[in-house]
Amino acid sequence: MIEIKNLHATVDGKEILKGVDLTIRPGEVHAIMGPNGAGKSTMSYVLAGRDGYEVTQGSVTYYGKDLLAMEPEERAAEGVFLAFQYPVEIPGVGNTTFLKTAINAIRKHRGEKELDAMQFLKLIREKTKALGMSDEMLKRAVNVGFSGGEKKRNETLQMAVLEPKFAILDETDSGLDIDALKIVAEGVNALRSPERSMLVITHYQRLLDYIVPDHVHVLAAGRIVKSGGKELALELEKNGYRDFGASEAA
Ligand code: ADP
Ligand code: MG
Ligand code: MG
Repeated sequence: MIEIKNLHATVDGKEILKGVDLTIRPGEVHAIMGPNGAGKSTMSYVLAGRDGYEVTQGSVTYYGKDLLAMEPEERAAEGVFLAFQYPVEIPGVGNTTFLKTAINAIRKHRGEKELDAMQFLKLIREKTKALGMSDEMLKRAVNVGFSGGEKKRNETLQMAVLEPKFAILDETDSGLDIDALKIVAEGVNALRSPERSMLVITHYQRLLDYIVPDHVHVLAAGRIVKSGGKELALELEKNGYRDFGASEAA
């Protein structure tokens, strides 16, 4: 279980998160929605341990451990996956090589035997097949020249291969078209399992037509100001974020 308590964080000395409380149980999919600038991306960076994001108060307990005390690599090895850690383009590094390195780093950290070339190939064939992906994408350099949809497919593949316990997806790209949204949704839905928790961060209500979350939260001005079930997303679609405006920000 993941427990975020009174989380405060600053970027460049500016307080962005102002007391976030959130509990996510195994198997649950939580959606975080909210207006632009609310701190949604900041929250995902803080959870992944990105440089430059300073936690000033509060705690994050991850299956009984202090998540904030772990290095980013340690968090990844413990099963935390941040989708946009990987969409960066890495010229000269083949997608297959990248995935193999990533999974073996995680296995090594867990004290498991690294996968050899044959074992890895078998795994990746299985996963690409299940996702309906072509082998062609595997041969290309990581994300180089990938379309938005291809990057999303690749992200889904990374998630499927790394089998995270806690997946965080931050849909920051305002250019996502409906096909890319569907790819994200398929990826999330395919990976739903009783042991896996997911945090889907989006300002697209539409995404939640395809991913039916267990819980929906509104993040505004650095705090969760409202929580509800999937119906909250529909309410937001009708009313927008006008109920969570500047007055609640202060
Ligand atoms: P969201 O993802 O909800 O749109 P962000 O987490 O990206 O919001 O940003 C929250 C706030 O933090 C915004 O006001 C943004 O301008 C500010 N912010 C983000 N990154 C930085 C930074 N590196 N330096 C200063 N302010 C930042
Ligand atoms: Mg934004
Ligand atoms: Mg954002």
